[in-house]
Amino acid sequence: MSQLTIALSKGRILKDTLPLLKVAGIEMLEDPEKSRKLIFPTTHPQVNIIIIRATDVPTYVENGAADLGVAGKDVLMEHGASGVYEPLDLDIAKCKLMVAGKVNAPPVNGRLRIATKFVNLTKQYYAQKGEQVEVIKLYGSMELAPLMGLADRIVDVVDTGKTLKENGLEPLELISYISSRLIVNKASFKRKSDLIQPLLQQLTQAVAQNKV
Ligand code: AMP
Repeated sequence: MSQLTIALSKGRILKDTLPLLKVAGIEMLEDPEKSRKLIFPTTHPQVNIIIIRATDVPTYVENGAADLGVAGKDVLMEHGASGVYEPLDLDIAKCKLMVAGKVNAPPVNGRLRIATKFVNLTKQYYAQKGEQVEVIKLYGSMELAPLMGLADRIVDVVDTGKTLKENGLEPLELISYISSRLIVNKASFKRKSDLIQPLLQQLTQAVAQNKV
């Protein structure tokens, strides 16, 4: 009997994906937010869930170390994720990828310095606009960079905009609307279609119900 491995990450994605999986008859036997384990069996005898960093989900799925995964469109765009199928927009963990800067900042002379963890995405965005910029890689708390003079702008995901506001920043440009997607390893999609196809159908229905 073949097994399916689904890769998820803690936080928003886990919280919003579990109710969808439940509709498909898959429930975790243990609360991963309260455990240090990384592999979890589920109520479905053929399905395991692994909990990894959000940015590692495309890598696991692309290489077939996981058959399926859930990842934000921001993470997929940054990664490239060309080796996976992306059959379903789960319509969860929605936010916007934006350029932000200090409120009432004076115009910048010369190249803009942009702090972000989305280096590839940011380079692509400004290349498309035909603007030469300097991209500075950060791993977190991007909001701090303009305040400390490290950068003129940041590129980050924004939900309510509260974090920007509380740090004296404002959204300037919308790069893309973001939501989380189901991704599937290409070989698994064919080889395990007996397991994946019904799951995909049930998830599609669960997403539709969520929208009502
Ligand atoms: P906000 O509601 O705009 O204050 O967002 C709070 C923080 O959560 C920000 O620092 C964002 O980087 C982050 N964030 C917002 N939405 C998402 C999302 N869908 N996925 C991951 N991080 C997010």
